Amino acid sequence: MPKTPSPQAEGGCTCGAVRYRLTSEPIVVHCCHCRWCQRESGSAFALNAVIETDRVELLAGQPESVATPSASGKGQEVLRCPACRVTLWSHYGGAGKAAAFIRVGTLDDPDACPPDVHIFTGSKQPWVVLPEGAEAFAVFYSGKDVPRIYGEVGAARWKALRG
Ligand SMILES: [Zn+2]
Ligand SMILES: [Zn+2]
Repeated sequence: MPKTPSPQAEGGCTCGAVRYRLTSEPIVVHCCHCRWCQRESGSAFALNAVIETDRVELLAGQPESVATPSASGKGQEVLRCPACRVTLWSHYGGAGKAAAFIRVGTLDDPDACPPDVHIFTGSKQPWVVLPEGAEAFAVFYSGKDVPRIYGEVGAARWKALRG
């Protein structure tokens, strides 16, 4: 599955105060169907492109960090535009601040980042029909699935992030 074909993908919030550029393709794109993502997006799922935070280059503005509870109990740091409050990315999970979960819908060309894997499909809204053969997990995948889903390069980048 091709990830961002354009190596200089740009994105931003709705009011335009915050603009960013991804300096490489993401490691992996998650489509999360958990109830938390449904509530936070007000929709059926969240689409997150996972990338090293140092590959997110700010072109304009400074997103504001908002501490938000997460399903894991560890919390997440949500980065929002200080003016229009649109969420641009968040930090959570094992890699902490080193990994940014970019909201794919904030990219200028969100079509470039289709999901590599569907997670928490146990709470998927029933009208959402996944493509035939899509990688999908009722909760989350395990470490042994990572090379297949991320590809060898993506798996190595993720491992480097986790330390
Ligand atoms: Zn804004
Ligand atoms: Zn989720």
